[in-house]
Amino acid sequence: MVLGEGAAGYLTDKLVERKKMSADRNHQAYALGIKEIFEVPADPDRVGHILHTFGYPLDSHTYGGGFVYRFSPTRVAVGLVTALDYKPADLNTHDMFRAFKAHPLIAREIEGGQVAAYGAKLLPEGGYFAIPELATDGALIVGDAGGLLDSVRLKGIHMALYSGMAAGDALWECWQKKDWSAAALKQYPARLHQTKGWKDLHNIRNVRASFKFGTLPGVVATGLSVMTGGMLPPGRVRRDPDYAGMIRSGSARKLPVPPKANSSKQQVDLLTDLFHSGTKHEENQPSHLRILDPNLCRQCKAEYDAPCTRFCPAQVYEWDEADQKIRVSFTNCLHCKTCQVKNPKRNIEWTPPEGGGGPAYRDM
Ligand code: SF4
Repeated sequence: MVLGEGAAGYLTDKLVERKKMSADRNHQAYALGIKEIFEVPADPDRVGHILHTFGYPLDSHTYGGGFVYRFSPTRVAVGLVTALDYKPADLNTHDMFRAFKAHPLIAREIEGGQVAAYGAKLLPEGGYFAIPELATDGALIVGDAGGLLDSVRLKGIHMALYSGMAAGDALWECWQKKDWSAAALKQYPARLHQTKGWKDLHNIRNVRASFKFGTLPGVVATGLSVMTGGMLPPGRVRRDPDYAGMIRSGSARKLPVPPKANSSKQQVDLLTDLFHSGTKHEENQPSHLRILDPNLCRQCKAEYDAPCTRFCPAQVYEWDEADQKIRVSFTNCLHCKTCQVKNPKRNIEWTPPEGGGGPAYRDM
């Protein structure tokens, strides 16, 4: 079995836990990427134009940044990536995205355009020290499912290709010997370790974890790491899981105020965005999002004012004041799994929905 189901994969997580494949590894550092594709007035001269940003509009303790890709005369992809170890419980990921688009540098890229598609995805940014064992009896883990992403060079697909090729070569040899044991499949990580992608990951091994000290120390650590081939910062920088350390609602650091939703064609509200994701689920099925203990939801509401209502990029969760419980509109779900990673009480479990429902991404 080759597991390539993306970040925080349902089967992968269960296998890694059961086989203790991430013992003594760092906690994975996840980030949520939100993206819109805009239909804009034609300008063939700008095709290929790329813009990467860092920081804004996130606070100085939150890792993240944005991008703009002009990939056709009339289409522009715009996105914001927010690390999920952010602390302010009040942070609203879609509001941050709207604030990002309002920055003059970004606003001029989408001027006169309108949203054509929307999506959200989890990125595993933890790097070298957060990668679990990638082979066990009868199974290999490839791509994002194995945490194979270079967050400094923004290389996820490259790492997926490296791992796919190494896995393919290893499987061919195992097939010839009819041996699918862990010992035989270990050829896969051994081959992966010889690739440039893996060596690059090793050279930035402490970069992502260093951002737990704040953006400035993180930037210094990045520079040192790149200059010394990863020798600095020395040793191994450990980090807490993403759900830990959230700052109580109301005491959060000051966050930028985004423009009002629907104040222009570029600043649409979340439900309009959701329509553009094409997400669809069979209504007549049990929710694939499991709230494990409703009492914990009430505690979470009291402490953090129900942050799931703000970090979910699909407005799945709403607090029902009358019933004092969370209402779950699972049919909105974009399958990003942010809720499983970020909810501070460890109280939401994402499971695969029945019938293959989910977002119908085009051009994403
Ligand atoms: Fe993502 Fe969870 Fe919201 Fe679905 S419910 S879109 S998995 S945060």
